[in-house]
Amino acid sequence: MTTLRVAIAGAGGRMGQANIRAVAATPGLLLHSAFDRPGSSAIGRDAGELAGAGPLGVAIGDNAEAALEGADVLIDFTAPAVSVLLAELAAPRGLVHIIGTTGCSREEDWAIQKAGSAGARIVKSGNFSLGINMLLGLVRQAAKALPGYDIEVLEMHHNKKVDAPSGTALMLGRAAAEGRGVDLDQHAVKVRDGHTGAREPGSIGFATLRGGGVIGEHSVILAGDTERIVLSHSAQERGMFAAGAVQAALWAADQPPGYYGMADVLGFTE
Ligand code: NAD
Repeated sequence: MTTLRVAIAGAGGRMGQANIRAVAATPGLLLHSAFDRPGSSAIGRDAGELAGAGPLGVAIGDNAEAALEGADVLIDFTAPAVSVLLAELAAPRGLVHIIGTTGCSREEDWAIQKAGSAGARIVKSGNFSLGINMLLGLVRQAAKALPGYDIEVLEMHHNKKVDAPSGTALMLGRAAAEGRGVDLDQHAVKVRDGHTGAREPGSIGFATLRGGGVIGEHSVILAGDTERIVLSHSAQERGMFAAGAVQAALWAADQPPGYYGMADVLGFTE
């Protein structure tokens, strides 16, 4: 088996460190480089030591281009503008680019997809866990089977999270909209405040909670007049996202250039 050399972006971050641990523990992957933004306190530290995986002999740098030199894979859980820039660097190098960054605007998503058609093998997902990707199928099915039920998506995350609703909540909302055969953008209600009037039939509501160290809690509630169904997922450890990211990297290495999602990696069609 060929060993894939992996560069980790955002190496000092919560997910960057989880990704370093996952790469170090995965046969067929080698930590090639790790980098963060200039000025980060992680610069110069041994990536493995910082991540709690023991010394790996890779110092965290602050230069993306230098880090990508000689790499096969880039794992990128950073910020939207950073992922767009990294997609532009990954495409001409023909890299596997695994993107977990959430909160991208439509334009940022479009710019990233364009890079996929320019040579990179991109796998982008708002959630790399197996459980959430299973849940998406269940939500799609339930929304289709229960057309009269009101759908609400509830999420809670740690107090450092910068985007809302979470990327995963939006994916769940989109799955519900697909089940109903409607466009999420036209049916989503992301904020309620003041005298809102009665609930708009057919809308898909979102509620966002932030606090403490919560890694990720998501529930999709289907509320009928006399009963309620709650489909939930609870993330207990960031390693679960990192395990999905390395699985995606190994899968994408054998794919032609393009833009993929986690459903492609897992072989889920529904
Ligand atoms: P974090 O703030 O702990 O880490 C982000 C890191 O990116 C920081 O270390 C930051 O310094 C670094 N960074 C910023 N600018 C950079 C640059 N120009 N070059 C290199 N590094 C740079 O955040 P986090 O909790 O690790 O989350 C990161 C992203 O991943 C968020 O968008 C979050 O929502 C998302 N996330 C996705 C999943 C998933 O499964 N898709 C799971 C968890 C988190």
